[in-house]
Amino acid sequence: MDDRHQLYIDGKWVDSSGGGTIDVMEAATGELLARVPSGTEHDVDDAVAAARAAFGGWSRSPVDERVSVLRRIADELKAREDELAETMAREVGTPIARSRSVQVGLGVTIFRSMADILETTSLEERRGTSLILKVGIGVVGAITPWNYPLYQLAAKVAPAIAAGCTTVVKPSSVAPLAAFVVAEIAESIGLPAGVLNIVTGAGSRVGERLAGHPDIDLVSLTGSTSAGARVGQVAAAGIKKVTLELGGKSAFVIAPDADIDAALAAAVRGCYVNNGQTCTATTRLLVPSDRLGEVEGKLVELVGSQIIGDPLDAATDIGPMASREQQRSVLRYLSEVPSDAKFLVGGPGDVTGLDDRLRSGFFVRPTVVSRVDNNSAIAREEVFGPVLTVIAYDGIDEAIAIANDSEYGLSGAVFAADDDKAIAIARRLRTGQVSINGGRFNASAPFGGMKKSGIGRELGPEGLDEYFEKISLQLRTEAN
Ligand code: NAD
Repeated sequence: MDDRHQLYIDGKWVDSSGGGTIDVMEAATGELLARVPSGTEHDVDDAVAAARAAFGGWSRSPVDERVSVLRRIADELKAREDELAETMAREVGTPIARSRSVQVGLGVTIFRSMADILETTSLEERRGTSLILKVGIGVVGAITPWNYPLYQLAAKVAPAIAAGCTTVVKPSSVAPLAAFVVAEIAESIGLPAGVLNIVTGAGSRVGERLAGHPDIDLVSLTGSTSAGARVGQVAAAGIKKVTLELGGKSAFVIAPDADIDAALAAAVRGCYVNNGQTCTATTRLLVPSDRLGEVEGKLVELVGSQIIGDPLDAATDIGPMASREQQRSVLRYLSEVPSDAKFLVGGPGDVTGLDDRLRSGFFVRPTVVSRVDNNSAIAREEVFGPVLTVIAYDGIDEAIAIANDSEYGLSGAVFAADDDKAIAIARRLRTGQVSINGGRFNASAPFGGMKKSGIGRELGPEGLDEYFEKISLQLRTEAN
């Protein structure tokens, strides 16, 4: 067991004031993987006080020093790649190759990318009679979910470090272990005490105290839309800046002239990556109605042949859900699919053929539901599991209308005969990012959502900018 007994506050490992612990379970087996402290409001207060005390010095630190810190964190994460990949495969259920390339790889990339961006960001600008300064916003409360634990921490901590901010991180209780590795790295590279603090614990206690703490300047939450709404409410009372990266129900539009095989290969990747536990998952596949039968046949082959199993086994395509609660939630959605829709693959039943060791794991059958009405719950709500819904359309205007007919607007994809045609369709989608003919995620492009998918952007210069205040110094002129 990988027990973590203490919180990281003010550059030291300290006991939680409450003494309680949280069990972290191994997704594939349902067995105890680790215990972490169940932090309290008092722990948050200590961490915020440490972050506040460190802010003055860190916000005035030379840019070169911050660039160097970001690169050293990236190097140390890379050096601990094997351990981190295995830990997140166990906690989250991500198949090991993806855990290495996406869970760890993206975390490393973000720290490197923020170092590069900071080096080329101008922190002062002369505009007319003003000198405009960009200064760190202050103390950041970073609240992260369980599906990409290191990536999401990096998307908040890297820009905070770059901007000269100090941070208190509250990781998800389902997958908190990578945050402890980041704290060990901060300690080992000599990051000044208080610049990074980690307090594990319940959202309702630790998260809410962070969101409402009078000495926090920015609350950045990645999580569900309901948690985002609550954090926004709590933070509003203190007039705090809030950035929210929330849920999605993204559409994958196959245009009538698209190469169906190429599109379906990308659609399956886009939906089932990380076992469907991805906020950008393209879970609504929009298909021209005259090609529906052909698409259905191919999906049966493509999804039906996915190998379900232990995420630590290199042959596994689809692992378990991260928690028993998530498994139950996905199964509930599957059991409530309207009878006029058609299960092509999978469904609410048990996964068969698993090793004995995996019998109590949080597995769900990879599922494709076709002939779905865009008004049904399975097409409107975020299922956050390995479930693809197929929706037929007539004419590209209807496809675009269905794609946009969602409370969410986080992501999407378009496949068409060529890039210009796909881009023309993508321009009409109300969503934060669109993959064009299989275009890959870019960790230095702005990332975030429209509508109930969030407020603000992470990654790239736009993500860094959220962590700056802008101050105008009005200079004297001849006319004074
Ligand atoms: P969640 O909302 O349950 O929890 C996210 C974090 O918020 C956790 O650390 C949790 O403890 C905390 N939290 C919960 N209630 C809180 C409260 N009242 N006050 C303060 N903090 C609180 O989400 P989850 O189940 O961990 O993650 C899955 C969700 O995250 C999905 O909806 C998914 O779409 C979303 N997500 C979004 C993005 C994105 O970038 N847009 C990325 C990944 C996941």
